[in-house]
Amino acid sequence: MLIHTEPVNLRRAWRRLVEQQIDGMRLSPDQMQRFNAGSAPDRFRHFLLTGLGSLVLFNLFLISDWYMVPDVFNLAIAARLYVLTPAVLALVVTGYVVRGWWLAHVPPWVMEVLGMVGTMAVSASLGVLMLATQSEQLSVYRAGLVPILVFGNLVQRLRFRYALASTLFNLGVCVGTMALRQDLSRPYAVVEVPLALLLVLVAIYTLVSNFNLEMDERQRFLQTERAYALRTELEHSHRSLGDLSNRDPLTGLANRRRFDSYLNDALQALPASGSALALALIDVDHFKAFNDRYGHPAGDQCLRLIAQALTDALPPGPCLLARWGGEEFALVMQGTDPADAMKVAEVLRAAVAALRMRHEASITSEHVSISVGLAMLDRVEDADASDAIKRLLKQADQALYQSKQDGRNQCTMAG
Ligand code: GH3
Ligand code: MG
Ligand code: MG
Repeated sequence: MLIHTEPVNLRRAWRRLVEQQIDGMRLSPDQMQRFNAGSAPDRFRHFLLTGLGSLVLFNLFLISDWYMVPDVFNLAIAARLYVLTPAVLALVVTGYVVRGWWLAHVPPWVMEVLGMVGTMAVSASLGVLMLATQSEQLSVYRAGLVPILVFGNLVQRLRFRYALASTLFNLGVCVGTMALRQDLSRPYAVVEVPLALLLVLVAIYTLVSNFNLEMDERQRFLQTERAYALRTELEHSHRSLGDLSNRDPLTGLANRRRFDSYLNDALQALPASGSALALALIDVDHFKAFNDRYGHPAGDQCLRLIAQALTDALPPGPCLLARWGGEEFALVMQGTDPADAMKVAEVLRAAVAALRMRHEASITSEHVSISVGLAMLDRVEDADASDAIKRLLKQADQALYQSKQDGRNQCTMAG
């Protein structure tokens, strides 16, 4: 049996791996800006704290200086205590004082550059001591570069590109001092290359960790952004669903459900408002005949036009017009009185008449007309509001029936 195996293309595999890693890091310029802005306050605090903490540890290394490079101990004191300590302290204190202004005005990369320069300055101070000393311990003293790498890449957690630059500088100090101090008698020279290799290994491992930490942070940022977008979308569809559940699909008016809840709220507000509430039931005359004559789709269109005409003619005060069901509409008006309510009903009736939609099957008029029944409520006597609503509806219905009885195309106020 022949087994076909694809030749392993190591270069391609490696490229894919690296591209995947880099793609994980990649954010659009907009996202990058939000990522940096969002993480800036935390990073600022982190930089100040790690700066302060490392200062203590950094000065503890004076003990190593004392043992290993005693001939330049004064220089070590000057570099550590008189130059770097005041510089870092000044930066940390100033940073703490101006943090609000800084975060608002200074781009985040400046903070990264300062952090990188600080870490490089520590490596450089070690380099200066290594160039100045005549100590035979130099080969071993160079190991002091290791904690600086760990600090910059893992503790301070510079952004990857700055971590890379600071690491290369650190390795440069190692190689540079090895090359430049061949003059010195070094009994431990045999450890120099293994130590340099150790430094390179630590550099690679800490850089990989630094890269992964930054990638995790970016991924967390993307997840947060996605979750936020999802929530906004959900809220939006929740709102539109709520809107849909309150709307009559044919006319776009409020539906019965919305009407009931509005009427209930209006009733609750009634005792406080001190004025009356009016309910108008509006019914299209001879609508069955309209459908029979012109067809159901024309009937639908007629209802839409009536809904629009009624909406356009609504009074300015607080009110709600709804499709009550079938060819009936209902209007609640708050803060009105019988005379005003009657005037509004008359305006609505005239607005539908003004549409002059032909209705050849009507025995009332040549055009589509409506009949209106009105009822008023000026206070809720019962403890139970639903009783008041039932009574109001019954009165409006009776008034509507009266309009129909009296010949349609008219408005009647419940007696
Ligand atoms: P009246 O003047 O006494 O109100 O007579 P009417 O024919 O309008 O009243 P009736 O209650 O007998 O008929 C109402 C008609 O309304 C019956 C029904 O087919 C029609 N209708 C109800 N809803 C719709 C709708 O959504 N679209 C259409 N096209 N017709 C509808
Ligand atoms: Mg009807
Ligand atoms: Mg009708």
